[in-house]
Amino acid sequence: MNFLEERILKDGIVKPGNVLKVDSFLNHQMDVELIDEIGREFHRRFKHKNITKVLTIEASGIGIACAVARCFGVPMVFAKKSKSINIDGDVYVAQVESFTHKTQNNVIVSKRFLGPDDHLLIIDDFLANGCALQGLISISENAGATVEGLGIVIEKGFQIGGRVIRNLGYHLESLAIIESMDGENGTLTFAPQNN
Ligand code: 5GP
Repeated sequence: MNFLEERILKDGIVKPGNVLKVDSFLNHQMDVELIDEIGREFHRRFKHKNITKVLTIEASGIGIACAVARCFGVPMVFAKKSKSINIDGDVYVAQVESFTHKTQNNVIVSKRFLGPDDHLLIIDDFLANGCALQGLISISENAGATVEGLGIVIEKGFQIGGRVIRNLGYHLESLAIIESMDGENGTLTFAPQNN
């Protein structure tokens, strides 16, 4: 079991509705030592790629993506959620359905910060149905950038996102893959990993 799986078992809370709460260490209160370790682990897995920028989505991806970007020595860009329907031509835009809130958000990135010379590592905290990642991939493609890989902290392997993204041919690495989750008695199991 790796450092993250151990922490999930210790402090994660399985909720009904296939939701895992990790707000005591990952996405509300943040254990910055753990976040740094996550950054180093993604660097280890993607260091052979020529990454020029790390891309994520607000809000909970930001802290993690910063730790990753520091390891690569590159900038981090985050897609902003925008309520505005009057989006000007200076931004790339994608529609993303929120897994937790079931709402549609426009997410935007300024054209000043992504372009055809960029080789991106896309980072997020969770992967469920893959809407957030698909939105970030779409923004990257619109910018003409190359998606070198995607790094997820916790993939819920029983939901379709991971399969969809891997079937599209992307290199996706998840530090913990949850195989099953039982909201009734609060238990979970991990898929075996060979990393
Ligand atoms: P997707 O777009 O892949 O369906 O969902 C990914 C997004 O939904 C993540 O950015 C994350 O914020 C949120 N999310 C999905 N599943 C969970 C979960 O089990 N727990 C928490 N805390 N957030 C989740």
